[in-house]
Amino acid sequence: MEKITFSVGDIVRMKKAHPCGSNEWEITRTGMDIGIKCCGCGHFVMMPRVKFTRMLRGVVSQAK
Ligand SMILES: [Zn+2]
Repeated sequence: MEKITFSVGDIVRMKKAHPCGSNEWEITRTGMDIGIKCCGCGHFVMMPRVKFTRMLRGVVSQAK
C-alpha cells in the first residue's frame, strides 16, 4: 500500500468534493486529528487521522 506523507500548508485532494465544488483542501493542523480548510470556500473541518487518510486522494502541492 502506498503511503502518502503530508504536513501543514500542503494542498491535498480528497475523494469526495465539498458541496461548494472544490475538492482541494489546505492542511492547517496535523496530529491525532487533521484540520483542513476548503480551498473553494474557506470552510474548516477537523477529522481523525484515520478518516483523513482514507479520504485522501493525493497531495497537490507541498508546502516547503
Ligand atoms: Zn468548500
